[in-house]
Amino acid sequence: MAKVSINLATGSLQKEDIIVGIDLGTTNSLVAFINPDNSPQVINDTGKGVLVPSVVHFGPAGDVLVGNEAKDFLITDPQNTVFSVKRLLGRSYHDIENYKDFFSYKVIDDDTESLVKIKVGDKFYTPIELSALILKELKARAEHAIKTPVNRAVITVPAYFNDSQRQATRDAGKLAGLDVLRIVNEPTAASLAYGIGLNPEETKTIAVYDLGGGTFDMSILQIQNGIFEVLATNGDTFLGGDDFDRIIVDYWIEKNNLNKAEVIANNELAQQLRLKAEEAKKSFAHQSLFNEKIGDIWCTLDRTAFEELILPKVQQTITCCQNALKDAKLTIDQIDEVVMVGGSTRTALVKKMVAEFFGRPVHDDLNPDEVVALGAAIQADILAGNRKDILLLDVTPLSLGIETMGGLMDVIIPRNSKVPTKGGRQYTTSIDGQVNMKIAVYQGERDLIKENRKLAEFNLKGIPSMPAGFPKVDINFLLNADGILTIQAIELRSGVKQEVEVKPTYGITDEQVEQMLMDSITHAKDDVNQRMLIEARTEGEQMVYTVERFLQKNGSYVTTEETGKTNEHIAALKAAISTGDKDLILKRIDEINELTRPFAERLMDQAISTAMRGKSIE
Ligand code: ADP
Ligand code: MG
Repeated sequence: MAKVSINLATGSLQKEDIIVGIDLGTTNSLVAFINPDNSPQVINDTGKGVLVPSVVHFGPAGDVLVGNEAKDFLITDPQNTVFSVKRLLGRSYHDIENYKDFFSYKVIDDDTESLVKIKVGDKFYTPIELSALILKELKARAEHAIKTPVNRAVITVPAYFNDSQRQATRDAGKLAGLDVLRIVNEPTAASLAYGIGLNPEETKTIAVYDLGGGTFDMSILQIQNGIFEVLATNGDTFLGGDDFDRIIVDYWIEKNNLNKAEVIANNELAQQLRLKAEEAKKSFAHQSLFNEKIGDIWCTLDRTAFEELILPKVQQTITCCQNALKDAKLTIDQIDEVVMVGGSTRTALVKKMVAEFFGRPVHDDLNPDEVVALGAAIQADILAGNRKDILLLDVTPLSLGIETMGGLMDVIIPRNSKVPTKGGRQYTTSIDGQVNMKIAVYQGERDLIKENRKLAEFNLKGIPSMPAGFPKVDINFLLNADGILTIQAIELRSGVKQEVEVKPTYGITDEQVEQMLMDSITHAKDDVNQRMLIEARTEGEQMVYTVERFLQKNGSYVTTEETGKTNEHIAALKAAISTGDKDLILKRIDEINELTRPFAERLMDQAISTAMRGKSIE
């Protein structure tokens, strides 16, 4: 584990390009870079504005719009307009079950634990592909504005994002043609933007309060020796500025004696009111009375009334702050800095209540909707080795992971992770009665293991015989400060366990590492596409397997007609699998889900719904 890995990862590959920082937000996304004079700056491409609404619209002729132009279609063409895709990134149907009505577009709900997909027209999109469209737009805007190729980026995610959500974010970057140098926590980036954490000598505890459009995130971080550690996160995934807008609309409905149901049914009016409400909310930064009309509806509101209306919501965020402190086992006076993030923290009442709660002035000099991107740009600059004053810590030059179904690389410790580090994930079996599991460990950036470097392989033996998808095998990677990787596999139901050790840097030269990185950049797009096809295929094969087994077991409870139909569909799915058309495979899977749901439910058989519980290994 040499100290040079950051240069390896960046320096000599492409000197001409600029590494950008990207805030991929639920409501808005934006990109920033570092000026030649070292100051971070957000990109405003030819007056299009800094914030790119995280909205994608699909036109009838296959044309795709991203940002403000797409946002207009939220009203006129909601089925073909995707918003809040970040809420779906790296998520399974089970994760989002409770709020599926929130989306106006079609989220495929087949009641399994595989990752969600979105259907627009007759095409299927993964949240990764949709996020990639937003990232591509940001990349294009940056390239246009600074007239420099942009191939590398640091992308931010909420501190609470799990492994699967982080991996999905990385994949989206890859698909957009970006080499993602690091995934950084949003609160960490925001702190960096304020210069907190840039001095490796300092030890500080920071509270980051992030109130965006639809989400509230509270994070408590500790910075020590230049390393940020998340002590606690809290928040509410359905609390933000949109709620303020809704509250104002309700208030106007009441004041004008309107019928709420009628207003909601009148899409255009509802939308006009919502936009007016947002305008009113923002206007209180410079005026104390908002007084306008929509037709003969009075839209009047003064700042005091506004603050009274939103007080309960703001109070809710303060409760989250309290809970975060409790989880971090800290008292208020142990917090050294409070950082304000998110467009909604421009609201004076929010600032006031947060400052009062923490008993100190908050950091709010920078634009709250820009701080995360600015900090990401600073992090990118550090990774590029442009800040000689900042200590470069030992990092892993190549990702470490294992082989999953279809010969895919599943990254457990991503490259550029600081060492020591650990990572882990749960896997399962792919066929009934599988008692052995081959665990093959690889190093590299490619999506297919055959392109990566094999480090070790062993067999986890003695898994008790169970149906496919039932065993729970935890695989943990531990990379110590000396660069020794310990791989541990344990089947949780039986306790069967096995462990091996390897040294990933052994027998590989810096030039080879560099070559591997270069290859991964050239092949990034093909790789992700191939992987998505393999994943669709694996899911399809798994479905053929489960449904055929289901019919065998329950043949007598399913009508001949149902069996006949299902068999036809299975044949169609098999045909699709052999064509290699990802969209067609997903379409066939969706059809079988619809078809089998009634009798699977009738029999309350767990087999179908528990299939594909997590990634499986042959
Ligand atoms: P996200 O992180 O969820 O993508 P942002 O940080 O961009 O979201 O915040 C968007 C929210 O900020 C919206 O609800 C918007 O109305 C609100 N907002 C923007 N400017 C102001 C302002 N001046 N006063 C109050 N709220 C604002
Ligand atoms: Mg945000």
